[in-house]
Amino acid sequence: MVSDECDHTWKMTNLRDGFIVTEKCYHCNKNRVYFSYEDVPPKDEYKEDDHYWNYAGSAQSVKFDMVCTRCEKTVPFEDLMGLMHCVGCDPECHVNIMSRICEGQNVWLYAALSYQLGEEVDLPVEKLVILTDYFTSRLRTPGKKILVVPGSLTRRPDLCRGEMLKDVGMLSLTPEG
Ligand SMILES: [Zn+2]
Ligand SMILES: [Zn+2]
Ligand SMILES: [Zn+2]
Repeated sequence: MVSDECDHTWKMTNLRDGFIVTEKCYHCNKNRVYFSYEDVPPKDEYKEDDHYWNYAGSAQSVKFDMVCTRCEKTVPFEDLMGLMHCVGCDPECHVNIMSRICEGQNVWLYAALSYQLGEEVDLPVEKLVILTDYFTSRLRTPGKKILVVPGSLTRRPDLCRGEMLKDVGMLSLTPEG
């Protein structure tokens, strides 16, 4: 994984604001999630194959890619929809459980939410490592760390209540709690 000689120093590039939109089919109760670049998330109902998709909620988010300031290697994060800090949705949410353990170790846990064709997928581990390195390096509090874990650890992605990373300055602030 760390095979190239460069000891990468990552920087965000190509920032895009938008929304993570959740839709629900009222026939089969299936959920799906996508990223919208529009100023206001679209809320129209529409039929697609056997599904009747209805707007079920949205969260402001930001998309970005990463570039190394030393070797200029660029890693696209088109597959990342957002980073979420679980604030205690459900006692059985794995992200919630891990967050509570990590807090005692001065580690803030973020779940990387990623979807393809509406279905949840996990980011490759290389990308989770880049995000962990990047956000930890930006923290101003000595000894604090950030750990970015796969989004599928949330118990129910549609129910996991968390704070979305809305802008890039947010993680240098101290989350409450
Ligand atoms: Zn590099
Ligand atoms: Zn359906
Ligand atoms: Zn949760």
